[in-house]
Amino acid sequence: MTIDNNFNTKKLHDWNIGVNGNPLLIAGPCSAETEEQVLTSARELKKIGTNIFRAGIWKPRTRPGSFEGVGNIGLEWLQKVKAETGLLTTVEVANVKHVYESLRAGIDVLWIGARTSANPFAMQEIADALKGVDIPVFVKNPVNPDVELWIGAIERLEKAGLKKIGAIHRGFSSYDHSIYRNPPQWQIPIELKRKLPDIPMICDPSHIGGKRELIQSISQKALDLNYDGLMIESHPDPDKAWSDAKQQVTVETLDIIVESLVLREVKPKGISMETLEDLRFKIDKFDNDIMDIIQKRMKVAELIGRYKKQNKMTILQPVRWEEIIDKNLLKGLKRNLSERFVTKLFKAIHEESIAKQTTIMNEEV
Ligand code: PEP
Ligand code: MN
Repeated sequence: MTIDNNFNTKKLHDWNIGVNGNPLLIAGPCSAETEEQVLTSARELKKIGTNIFRAGIWKPRTRPGSFEGVGNIGLEWLQKVKAETGLLTTVEVANVKHVYESLRAGIDVLWIGARTSANPFAMQEIADALKGVDIPVFVKNPVNPDVELWIGAIERLEKAGLKKIGAIHRGFSSYDHSIYRNPPQWQIPIELKRKLPDIPMICDPSHIGGKRELIQSISQKALDLNYDGLMIESHPDPDKAWSDAKQQVTVETLDIIVESLVLREVKPKGISMETLEDLRFKIDKFDNDIMDIIQKRMKVAELIGRYKKQNKMTILQPVRWEEIIDKNLLKGLKRNLSERFVTKLFKAIHEESIAKQTTIMNEEV
């Protein structure tokens, strides 16, 4: 399926928070710390074309004792931001009290954090508190890689009558060692876009990367996947930030990052798609071949399953499995296929083959 990249930026424009055809830029510090920090940051961000100013007022911290946000006083600073710069404002809301305080303060856009969207009780309470309110709400993906939970959070808001709902992809917690703070797992937001094509999708490269050096490349990748905007943390003095110091950038750096991003289109006007269509035809044909070959391979795996059953052998034969991986890693190397890819591919094939053999083992005779 192709997703038209300009399709949802029109929607953001209709919601009065973006410019049609341009990715939305939400920027500001992870946390509001002082009035001066908030206002300095906003004045600078306004100059580089930021659409919405973000600042966390209530901060969900992993461990108690870390800075947990300035609370309600921060809402007054955001009111000053709006009055002075005209920037729209957004804060994270995690409970009913946050919703009421933010609405009372005239905050323009709300966002739901990753720890909150993972919690259906909290989501339902927030949705109930927002009944009858016409405000854009962005729902970050839940911390755990579960697209259904993300969709569920969005659905609760839809059922409460909210019409302006967007999604923010901020990556997923992982125990594995990774260059990312929260590995992006791009297939999950892509699946959300497939299931809910009308929901604008924003990328938060700051929380995905966890370090400022990664922000540019993650942002470019998001735009190449037709995202409708970016939410980036920016602080006047990032290393001294009271939260998420490593991933925040100065406005100057943010400007350089934004200027460097290339906007590509799904189908640029006036170019011939013939070559692309020819190439796609070839790809489709190869995909068919791959599926046919895999089917044949599985049939043989089933025969092996029957043989193992008759001879009371275990399904998993570790030596054989290692031999398969080693052999194919070598073949992959010769074919310029990465080790990561070959391992993933064969693990998936092996898993399916084990599933087929398990079914055979369990068949009644
Ligand atoms: C944040 O945006 O500062 C934040 C706490 O994000 P997340 O909910 O993605 O962790
Ligand atoms: Mn943060």
